[in-house]
Formats: sequence, C-alpha cells, structure tokens
Amino acid sequence: MSVARPDEVRRFNRASLLRILHVSGPATRAALATELGLNRSTIKMLVDGLAGDGVVEERVPRIPQGAGRPSLLVLPQAQAVVVLAVDIQVEHASIALVGLGGQILGRNSWNLRGRGRDPDEVVTHVAESAALLAQDLDLHPIAAGISVPGVIRRTDGLVHTASNLGWTEVPLGERMGKVLGVPVVIGNDAELGALAEFVRGLGRGASDAVFVSAEIGVGGGLIAEGEPMRGSVGYLGEIGHMTVHPGGRECHCGNVGCWETEVGEAALRRALGLAEFGPRGAIVAELRELQRDSDPVARLGDYVDWLILGLVNVVNILGPELVVLGDMFAILPDAVVRAAQAEVRRRSMVSRAHGGVRIEKSSLGADVKLLGAAEAAFEDVLTTV
Ligand SMILES: [Zn+2]
Repeated sequence: MSVARPDEVRRFNRASLLRILHVSGPATRAALATELGLNRSTIKMLVDGLAGDGVVEERVPRIPQGAGRPSLLVLPQAQAVVVLAVDIQVEHASIALVGLGGQILGRNSWNLRGRGRDPDEVVTHVAESAALLAQDLDLHPIAAGISVPGVIRRTDGLVHTASNLGWTEVPLGERMGKVLGVPVVIGNDAELGALAEFVRGLGRGASDAVFVSAEIGVGGGLIAEGEPMRGSVGYLGEIGHMTVHPGGRECHCGNVGCWETEVGEAALRRALGLAEFGPRGAIVAELRELQRDSDPVARLGDYVDWLILGLVNVVNILGPELVVLGDMFAILPDAVVRAAQAEVRRRSMVSRAHGGVRIEKSSLGADVKLLGAAEAAFEDVLTTV
C-alpha cells in the first residue's frame, strides 16, 4: 500500500477546496470543513495559505449565523487564477479570459470567412487577440481551453477532422501551445458544452445527461455517472452523423442521410422558408416570431419529426435523465421542445423505464462553449495553483 506524503495530501486538499469555491462560490470555513470532511485547523491552514497567495480573501459574513463567533467567509479571487477560453465556430471565433469562479473578465470575437477559417490564420488571430486582451486587462492566463466543432484527439489536441471548417489532421494543440506558451486543452464543442452544463448549467448534479450542440453541424456531449465522458482517445458523441434517412441528403462527412442533414442549420433554414445561406440573425428572428405562432410544431412540419426521431435514438441508446438542447435548438419555440419531450417519452423504451427523460433548452446561452472551454482548462490547473 502506498502512503501519501503530507505535502501531497496538502496539495490534494488545497485543490479540493479551490474546486468547491470555483464551482459553488464563496463558502464559510465551517461549510468547507463539513464538505471536505476536514477539521477546522486544517481548513484554517489551507485558507491562510491561499489567502497569502492572493487566491482567496476572507470576510466576516454580513448575516450573523447564530450565536458565537461567526465563521469567516472565504471568497475566491477571480483575477488570481485566469484561463483563456476559445470558441471556434464555423462562422466566427470568440475568446474570453475567465477567472476563478467562472466569471468572464473580458472577451473578443471576430468573423471567420474565407481565408480567416484557415487553421494558420485562426492560430495567429487567437494568439494576437489573446495577447491584446491580456494586456488590456493586465491579466495573465495560466492555461487555455479551446472548443472546436470536430473530432478531436484529447491527448494532444489533434483535430482529426472538423468537416464544417474544412479541417483535417490539424495539430491544433501543439500549434496553440507554441504560440500561447501555456498548457492547452482542445475539446469537441459538444463535449465542452456538456462540461459547462454539468458545472454551471442545467446538468449540475445530474448523473447521466446529454448536451446536443446545434450550429451548422450537430453533435453530442455526454455526462455518464456524474463524469464527463471522453471516449477511448477522445472520440465520441457524433450523434449528428447517425443515419436517420437512408437515401436522404449528402452530408459533409461523406455519408448520406445523417441527422445533421435533417436538423442542422441548413435544414432549419429550409423549414423556416429562408434562403440556404445568410446571416444567422434571420433564423433567430424567425424563431422568435414562431414562438408567438399558434402552432409552431405544425409550421416546422417534418423538421420536428426528424428532431424527435434523432432524440428518440439518442435517449434509447444512452438512457440519460436529462437532454440539454444547445445553440440553435435552445431558441426553438417552447411548444416544439414540449412536443419533443412528450414524443420521446412515449417512444423511447429507456425513458419510459425510468419515469421520463427531461428535455430542456440550455440556460447558458451563446457562452456555453466558452464556459466549457474554460472549465476544461481549469480542470488541470486547480491542482497546481
Ligand atoms: Zn454526416
């Protein structure tokens, strides 16, 4: 049996304490002691160490907590531990500096059109924008998390393929690490969306959940038994490429009749009667209008049927208690989501067995991938702070 050395135990406890503050916000010393199962003197030593390093501050709570000396409130200092989050989408890229506790401290974004979508251009632009933002805010990120809509090898951040970006075999992790000079983790966009929902959104406390991303492409990120699921080397969750319509439309991936071809952005444009290409704002405006319609399910016609068909398959295979609809799906009319939930509950054997899956729209809005990318970066650095 190996015996952990005292400094290892201390580092583990310090990281666990920081993790609680990062995820749940300020807590009293007493609450931290209870949650971590440590005695008060150990908590005091850990908090004193973190306060000495400027990572937390302590205050007397404003609201007295019963008789006796109040337990000091420990507050994480957002600017003391900062990571760079990057969200690369097909049409645009965003970066943000995110502080301990998950607060976005500053951000920037730009369009990705034509040559701007080239991997070299993206790497250069991310590095330059990040340097400017860090300089403006006088912050120094210690790690970076990057979301890409593609199939990513988690170990080294190789983008095996990101078909909607036109990328194949791009060693993004290696290149970004070189230009940013900090540890970099690259993740699939849906996987990072799931992580954000799990840490900060509707998936908090969920044991088994699926996050469905829906930009131009459609993907899935999974939480299984309370842990983000990563697949063998990081490849999983390509639910947008389930074949749902043999003989249907050709997909970017080379197959025919993928779910993405029936429910992705192009399909939604068709269902809304919009031109095949155009600003995403037009979709948002149409969906807002549709929210007020007396029967949005009928207005969207086949689109809703395809949406339900894919969701039934996802629920039957994975058996989640919760499906979070992200991106464009998060602005579908409420009536469509309710209809999808009712139909999936009726048609999925798994859902019927455990009392009915919940299907809900993401509450994190357009920042979901940025927040997920930040969490991926924080996962590794909290043990080193
Ligand atoms: Zn496909």
